[in-house]
Amino acid sequence: MKRQLTTFILSVLCLAGHLVAQAPAAPTLIKVGRLLDPRTGNVLAPAAVLVENGKIKEVGTPARVQADAPAGVKTIDLGNATLLPGLIDSHTHLLLDVVVPAEPEISRRHNGEFAPGLLLAIVEPPNKRVLMGAQLAREDLESGFTTVRNLGHSGIDGDSALRNAINSGRILGPRILASGRKIAQRGDYLQDLNPALAEAILQQEFLRVEGADGARQAVRENLLYDVNVIKVAVEDNVTVAEMSAIVEEAHSQHIKVAVHAATEVSIQTAIDAGADSIEHGNQVTEEQLKQMRAKGIFLDITPIWYGGFWSKIHEPIVESSATRANQAEGDNKSRQRGVELVQRVLKSGVKFAVGSDMCWFYPGKTRGQATATIFPIMHSIGMPTLEILRAVTTSAAEMLGWQDRVGTVEAGKFADLVAVAGDPIADISELERVRFVMKGGQVVRNDFASH
Ligand SMILES: [Zn+2]
Repeated sequence: MKRQLTTFILSVLCLAGHLVAQAPAAPTLIKVGRLLDPRTGNVLAPAAVLVENGKIKEVGTPARVQADAPAGVKTIDLGNATLLPGLIDSHTHLLLDVVVPAEPEISRRHNGEFAPGLLLAIVEPPNKRVLMGAQLAREDLESGFTTVRNLGHSGIDGDSALRNAINSGRILGPRILASGRKIAQRGDYLQDLNPALAEAILQQEFLRVEGADGARQAVRENLLYDVNVIKVAVEDNVTVAEMSAIVEEAHSQHIKVAVHAATEVSIQTAIDAGADSIEHGNQVTEEQLKQMRAKGIFLDITPIWYGGFWSKIHEPIVESSATRANQAEGDNKSRQRGVELVQRVLKSGVKFAVGSDMCWFYPGKTRGQATATIFPIMHSIGMPTLEILRAVTTSAAEMLGWQDRVGTVEAGKFADLVAVAGDPIADISELERVRFVMKGGQVVRNDFASH
């Protein structure tokens, strides 16, 4: 009996998986009060979108689109909501969820905030890590992130395996651009490992740069796992020759290179080597922004630290008042740096996107909700709301090289859509309360349906 039941459950699960993967979504007509185009800020009100075979077929006034809709089309009426393209998080870490440890652990270890969590993620079974990634991926999608670029900390092939499972309909999640292992110099993240095991541990997470040939080899090793993008963590110790070799090798395979670079020296290395995007870019100078603009290099701003995040993730921990005061002071300094960075970026005319860089457990929030905190943070440091919207839709799509498939609501693009109740241009925090999510023509969430 037990065996029969198990067989039955397995066959139902297989069938369900099969259905999710194979069944084309029925043609759908979405009616909505307002359709906001992030490219221009223009609003079409009211509006309708016809979706067929997972893609947008037509966009226009309800009368026009309805007239062109096939007989028996399924209609979703979103009332007075505002419809937007699905959101893109251009910098995330779905297979890492660092829980801040207790104060003594933090203070008595090198990089005590981050290293213990990262080390635990590496030494645990990769299967467990990918399943956690599946949870965080679903949470991102439920908050409106229909595309994410996963930039490292996924084990050897965790993010590409997660991407493949989502693409074949086995689990729910955003479209993922996977980067595989981060190409980095040894010692930047983990130190004081057991010498007998250090190499084996590091190889689970990183590919090392050792000269130009080694750099090329690192790219090729990642390509074995079918990555979509190469992530390099450049500190001041990576040479332009090494960086150029990485870019050349990746570009020969039509793959873009995203470079973690925070200092002036490392940013210059990335610029000189012709990287496609610079992640963080904290210390970027005006002259460097000019060079980036001239070369078409994107800056991917990661604002999470500019909005009191440090204090928030430490809230559940017992800490001395001195430590709390230090964290608050650190948050204030970060905020000021964020304000200055946004001013420089807007003045420079450089192309930019915004990514969450989320890899931390945020008490009381799902991963998607934690990620969505970047919207009010960007506004609080001086970014106009329409610029924020562009940064996570059209500009992000261009940075990813996916402008032909996502980032706008127009015919031919994937039917990746989100809706909010209010006007995100007037109040960007609306994006923290996404109430309707469609990915590839399938409804992931519709809170409007219950009203
Ligand atoms: Zn990152």
